[in-house]
Amino acid sequence: MKAAELKKLKTLLKKTRNIVIVTHWSPDGDAMGSSLGLYNYLALKKHKVTVITPNDYPAFLAWLPGNNKVIDFSVEQEKAKKAVEKAELICTLDFNSMQRIERLGKYILDSAAPKLLIDHHPQPENYASFNLHNTKASSTCELVYELIHLLGDRKRIEKKIASCLYTGIMTDTGSFRFNSTTPRTHRIVAELIEAGAVNHEIHGRIYDTNTEDRMKLLGYCLCEKMKVFPGYHTALISLSSAELERFNYKKGDTEGVVNYALAIEGIRFGAFFVERDGKIKTSFRSKGDFDVNKFARAHFQGGGHRNAAGGMSDIGLEETVTKFEGLLPSYKKELE
Ligand code: 5GP
Ligand code: MN
Repeated sequence: MKAAELKKLKTLLKKTRNIVIVTHWSPDGDAMGSSLGLYNYLALKKHKVTVITPNDYPAFLAWLPGNNKVIDFSVEQEKAKKAVEKAELICTLDFNSMQRIERLGKYILDSAAPKLLIDHHPQPENYASFNLHNTKASSTCELVYELIHLLGDRKRIEKKIASCLYTGIMTDTGSFRFNSTTPRTHRIVAELIEAGAVNHEIHGRIYDTNTEDRMKLLGYCLCEKMKVFPGYHTALISLSSAELERFNYKKGDTEGVVNYALAIEGIRFGAFFVERDGKIKTSFRSKGDFDVNKFARAHFQGGGHRNAAGGMSDIGLEETVTKFEGLLPSYKKELE
C-alpha cells in the first residue's frame, strides 16, 4: 500500500466507523478466513462491521469465529443493502473484479463509501481508494495480516483473528505445499499459532469433517470420471448434476477434486467441469509455467492465478468437455 494511502486509512480508522466487508461468489477458505479475520480485528478496534457474501459457503467453514454474523446477500438482500448504504468504508477481499460478486457488485459500486481492496489475484480493477494488492502473497489472509501489521497492531492479533487467518493461508496454499508458500508465509503462520490458532484442530475441522457421501463422490470421480491425456500432460474430471444428486451433493463437496488430476506423475494441467444451476463451472490447475489464468480468460469467461483459475461455460457438459479436449492440441508446446 502506498504511504499516502496508509496514512489516510489510519486517519479514517481513528473514529468508530460502519464498515462492510465483501468477498467473492462461492466463498472458499481464503475468502471467509480473510473476511472474518478482518472482521474480528476491526470489531476488536470497536468498529461496527458487517460481512456480506454473495451466496452461501461450505459447512466446513461455518465454525469460523464471527460466522454467525455473516449476511448472505442471496438470502437477506434488504439487510445487506442497508448495511452497504450505511457503510463509511467497504473492504473488498479476495477478488479482482466486480463480476466475481455478481448482483451485489452494483450496490458496492453505487456506494460513495471509499473502498479498500485486499487481494492477490492478477490485474485488479481500479475502483479502490486503498489498495493492498500483491500477486506474490500466498493468500488474501496473508495480506490481512500485513494490513494489521501496517496499522501497528500485530501484537493485538488474538485467537479469533489468528484462527481465521490461519485457515485461509492453509487452504490457499494447499496446506503449505504450493509454490506461493514462502519463508514469510511460514513466519506469519508461526506467529498465528503463537497467537492462539490451534493448527491441528483447524486442519481437522477443514479436512476431516467429510460426509460418507462426499468421500464416495471423490472415489467415483477418480475411478469412473477421470480422463488422462498423457500426450498433453493433462487430466480432466467432469460431473453432471444427475451424478451430484446421486451422491446427495452439498455445497463444498467438489472442492479440491481438481487437485487430484495433478497428483498423477507427469500431469501438469488439471481440469474439472461440474454442471450446476444449468451452467458448467470450470476449474483449472497447473504445475509450472502453464498459465491457467490466461487459458480461463481466453476460453471460459474466467480468470484467477497462473496456477489456479476458474470460469464458466454456457454450453452443455459434454460439449464443454469436447471444447476443452479440442483446445489441447493448440497448447501442445506449452504443455510439453
Ligand atoms: P476454483 O477453481 O477453486 O473455483 O477457483 C480457482 C481460482 O480461480 C480462484 O483463485 C478464483 O478466485 C478464480 N476463479 C474461479 N472462478 C472464477 C471465475 O469465474 N472468474 C474469475 N475471474 N476467476 C475465477
Ligand atoms: Mn485467495
